[in-house]
Amino acid sequence: MSANGYEKLELFIDGEFRQGSEGKTEDVINPADESVLAELPHASTADLDEALAAADRMFPVWRDTPAFKRAQVLKKTAQLMRERIDDISRTLTLEQGKVYSEAKVEMGAAIEITEWYAEECVRAYGRIIPGRMPGSRSMVLKEPIGPVAAFTPWNFPAVTPIRKMAAAVAAGCSVIVKASEETPGTCIAMARCFQDAGLPDGVMNIVFGVPSEVSEYIIPHPAIRKISFTGSIPVGKLLSKMAGEHMKRATMELGGHSPVIVFDDADTEDVVKMVVGGKFRNAGQVCVSPTRFYVQENKYSEFVSKFAEIAGAMNVTNGMEEGADMGPLANPRRLDAMAGFVADAREHGADVRTGGERIGNQGFFFQPTVLADVSEESRIMNEEPFGPVAPITPFKEFDEVIERANRLEFGLASYAFTTDDNKANALADKLESGMVGVNSLAISLPETPFGGIKDSGHGSEGGIEGLEAYQNTKFVQHWMA
Ligand code: NAD
Repeated sequence: MSANGYEKLELFIDGEFRQGSEGKTEDVINPADESVLAELPHASTADLDEALAAADRMFPVWRDTPAFKRAQVLKKTAQLMRERIDDISRTLTLEQGKVYSEAKVEMGAAIEITEWYAEECVRAYGRIIPGRMPGSRSMVLKEPIGPVAAFTPWNFPAVTPIRKMAAAVAAGCSVIVKASEETPGTCIAMARCFQDAGLPDGVMNIVFGVPSEVSEYIIPHPAIRKISFTGSIPVGKLLSKMAGEHMKRATMELGGHSPVIVFDDADTEDVVKMVVGGKFRNAGQVCVSPTRFYVQENKYSEFVSKFAEIAGAMNVTNGMEEGADMGPLANPRRLDAMAGFVADAREHGADVRTGGERIGNQGFFFQPTVLADVSEESRIMNEEPFGPVAPITPFKEFDEVIERANRLEFGLASYAFTTDDNKANALADKLESGMVGVNSLAISLPETPFGGIKDSGHGSEGGIEGLEAYQNTKFVQHWMA
């Protein structure tokens, strides 16, 4: 921990926390005031080679460590994360910007995920299929896939790495994580918990650098058997191509553009309260953020007014401040993106009901923004906004809104609000997305599969599927001699 309460930034290679061998670094910025929090070391090619060698060497050792023992390490890791939650959450807010209470909720989720994988790894059952010969057995075994290369983004500095770190460790894999260079401290702090919990040296390695250089170096390496990436669709497609060329299994957790359908039988007041909280959580920088709001015409104007009223009253300030409802955006790229989305929506005839502007000129703050009567042609209705801007538009009929909801190539999450159970069932069947929330935004839980379809990627993190993503399926045919 540094004097400013921020994590000490180091690489973690073969059990050693240290600087890069060539001394290259980059600044990590606090998005609330643009101050430099610390310098982050970059891994040189020699450092990456060491991480690869360590992961390769330790894979058979960790694979052959009984699941019972792996579970103990994970349980101890979760316990240490719980003991250190205040400090790690502080690091998270300083580097990423979200309000401190949200950072603690995120860390709470990271702890639960670690605990869940601790419990699940001892249940990595295979199965026995009735044999065709007398006395024969046909067996399916689950085995760890091998060393993993994991790449994680800046919007959830705890949850996105831990989903990969805990699942890989639980399955019996070694792992090299390249977390986001913009929010590295949280991942480093969690890696310290793994080490202090007794994870053998070299099973987990954390590196940083120029993202494309690191991924191009480690994905093709023969030691690596699995890629897991969370981030944007363009980068996901690039890494998928590389994984395909080298025949590596891949999980791709990419962007989304979640429709939110509000039928006029739903209670507008309750729905607005829930979705405003969901929309502006982490300043909208959430892959499953409620994004496009389709509200049935009878309730449309009431919905828009209530939404704008609550959004306009939010306290947007430094996430470490008491009473903050929303912090800054995580980087200046998002500020430029928001300004562009709002200007374009205006040009297409949208009515800016609240917000629409940057706040101040120090720190990356943007007003919670509500756009009404947004044309389907606007960029914000077609590209992932990843920020605190909510476009709302009316609809008439069930079939019409399903078609509008499904019209994009995104397929991560969809949400719908109705008190009609028949409608709810039909929605769950017809919405084209990996996750559907009916009267609920709670679609990310340790025990349930989290992942998209269409351009939003493939594979799941969470649930039994999250562990299977790090396992090979082996078939054994045993005829008694
Ligand atoms: P970006 O596409 O440059 O980067 C996205 C993430 O991928 C970053 O964490 C980055 O470090 C990493 N990355 C970039 N190039 C890489 C490479 N060649 N190899 C390995 N990793 C690489 O965009 P950005 O400006 O950081 O974020 C903008 C967009 O990314 C958002 O609009 C959103 O759509 C998407 N995003 C999605 C998620 C998610 O949870 N699915 C998270 C963060 C960002």
